[in-house]
Amino acid sequence: MPKSTHVSELDLIAEIRRAFPASRRRTVPLGIGDDCAILRPPPGHDLLVTTDFTLESRHFRRETHPAQAVGHRCLARGLSDLAAMGATPLAAFLSLALPRNFPGTPIGRRWLKDFLAGLGNLASATHTPLAGGDTAQSPTETILADIVLTGIAPTGTALRRSGARPGDDIYVTGALGGAAAELRSVLAGKSPRRASKGDYPHLYPHLYPQPRLAQGQVLRRRALATACIDLSDGLSTDLTHLCAASGVRAEIDFTALPIHPLAQTQPDAFHLAVNGGEDYELLLTAAPTTRIPGKIAEIPLTRIGTILKRNFRHPPITLLHTDGSREPLNPGGWQHFTTQELFVEGK
Ligand SMILES: [Mg+2]
Repeated sequence: MPKSTHVSELDLIAEIRRAFPASRRRTVPLGIGDDCAILRPPPGHDLLVTTDFTLESRHFRRETHPAQAVGHRCLARGLSDLAAMGATPLAAFLSLALPRNFPGTPIGRRWLKDFLAGLGNLASATHTPLAGGDTAQSPTETILADIVLTGIAPTGTALRRSGARPGDDIYVTGALGGAAAELRSVLAGKSPRRASKGDYPHLYPHLYPQPRLAQGQVLRRRALATACIDLSDGLSTDLTHLCAASGVRAEIDFTALPIHPLAQTQPDAFHLAVNGGEDYELLLTAAPTTRIPGKIAEIPLTRIGTILKRNFRHPPITLLHTDGSREPLNPGGWQHFTTQELFVEGK
């Protein structure tokens, strides 16, 4: 490897270390700076691990996505997986590959600073220390990031996809379709270059999704949910995953779906709400005898349907209309940026 690149990699690590001060947590006795991090989950806890790629052109575009938002989303995706299982974040690990010479240019330095700030703001808001990672030169002109997130939950209590039973009610947190609606304007070049994240997160469901950690933890602690999954690929796809894992089918009440205000302004609001991905809300099921609060930590929960016994003559998910008619709801979820054409061509 040429010497100049090696130096810039050291600079890169120094920059990351500056952005993430050493953890003082008992659960992370050793973070960045040695061959390995040391994690010490409290006794009586399971360790949960999830990993997510964030790839330029697939998950974001440098021309349309502010670097702060890319950093935020990079961490938010894994935090949402922890939220779906009711876990508490323990530590994150970031591997980052940047194009050759990119960190050496003013634009590249700015991008990196903003990316780390976006990631760092969400990390501190959710008490998630960055405990290590790796850097490399990207083999192409694209930015590649991979994040590993670890979390903890008391032994045997983490929520799973597999516990839904016939008769259970289906709920979602928050509202649906906002991320897809915002992505549409982001791709049309209407995103703020530096969105003021944090103040009005509901305005930026795509750029600054808010992982439902507090809600997941309450659901787990109070044993309210029989099954849970986060909505990364869209309701129709993620509900299919939950039904498959639980060996059941589901019926969704068309009129009950909480549609995000950003999606309501779109002609295909319903399509965005059921097939638009990356809302990072929680989809859960609960026994009909369980009282589900109307809100958990400020976020509303809405009952949207019922779990039914699997029957191979019926599709895994049906949609119930107000006139009592039913139609199959096929998984048509997000393929992340592969659906970009869908938006451009307005299909
Ligand atoms: Mg998930």
